[in-house]
Amino acid sequence: MVLFYRGNRVECPVCSSKFSSFLPYGRTNPRPNALCPNCLALERHRLMWLYLKEKTNFFTASYKLLHVAPEHCFIPRFEALPNLDYITADIESPLA
Ligand SMILES: [Zn+2]
Repeated sequence: MVLFYRGNRVECPVCSSKFSSFLPYGRTNPRPNALCPNCLALERHRLMWLYLKEKTNFFTASYKLLHVAPEHCFIPRFEALPNLDYITADIESPLA
């Protein structure tokens, strides 16, 4: 799937991968250009990542973070941040 979208028209800020476009996403009326083929980040995830990166000290200051209903695209990246004391929680997801 990733090879099919090879290109550099769009870049996912979460995983820094470039593609010709993002994948469509949505059950009844799929949005075009929505899902990152590599890390599965959606528009809201890319916006949140950019906000944290550009407008906060999230990546440098020490924080204790309880991530409820964690998004798959963020878990390994937040776990790798040495400044975070990071834990996840969810009622059903085995990811947390
Ligand atoms: Zn991505």
